[in-house]
Amino acid sequence: MTMTPAGIAPLFEPDHCANCFEPLPADYRHRPWLFCNVLCRETANTIRYWRKTARDGRFDADPEVRYAIGIRLAHMLRGGYDSDVRRIPTDVRVLVIERDKACVRCGGPGEEIDHIDEDGGDPGNLQLLCKTCHHAKTAEYLAPASQDQSDLIFVLLIARVVPTAPAQLCDDEIEWVAAERTLRGERIVRLRSAAVRDQAAASEAAAARKAAALALDFDDDDDEDRDEDYYAGYGQNTHYAAG
Ligand SMILES: [Zn+2]
Ligand SMILES: [Zn+2]
Repeated sequence: MTMTPAGIAPLFEPDHCANCFEPLPADYRHRPWLFCNVLCRETANTIRYWRKTARDGRFDADPEVRYAIGIRLAHMLRGGYDSDVRRIPTDVRVLVIERDKACVRCGGPGEEIDHIDEDGGDPGNLQLLCKTCHHAKTAEYLAPASQDQSDLIFVLLIARVVPTAPAQLCDDEIEWVAAERTLRGERIVRLRSAAVRDQAAASEAAAARKAAALALDFDDDDDEDRDEDYYAGYGQNTHYAAG
């Protein structure tokens, strides 16, 4: 377990969620990989983006960046949004742009592709919008944060965005991407070899059971053999000379 420079909280703990430190299932196919769920992964993504843009000056300079972080936080508060599910393949993107040609709300320049209804990725659920209409639509759909939610965001900001040294490895806007690849690989190897060991132990146990069963069979055979021997000479075809 790695410690922060202050030695207070773990930066990362293998086989525990990189964001919330809950234990992960012992399954190398578990996704999203080093996080317990999409919400935890998106929380870490948002923290890293926030840290990065706060440090390179874009957060202050670019209202689009502040908007993007606001939207990410809003999705996070709604339980996380699965960027994998919402990623639009290039061919679908091209198809929607060619079909709609302009913003379907105001006829202005088509700048962004919008999911009409939540996550469905088929062209029928996608539409071309201008930036203004897209922002307006998103604002209609996201409720303003409650006091509790605002407090939660403030806590995240103070604990994980403001400190210069990342509080957790998954917050590290410089190291995480490479570290994640390595840690994910290590976890897969570790769990796979554990699975192989389990399988070997299981087949060993099965072999032992089979051997035990065979031994019983031999015993039975022995008994049968002995019984046959035992009764030999007493069967119906055995004749003793009458006395
Ligand atoms: Zn988690
Ligand atoms: Zn528009």
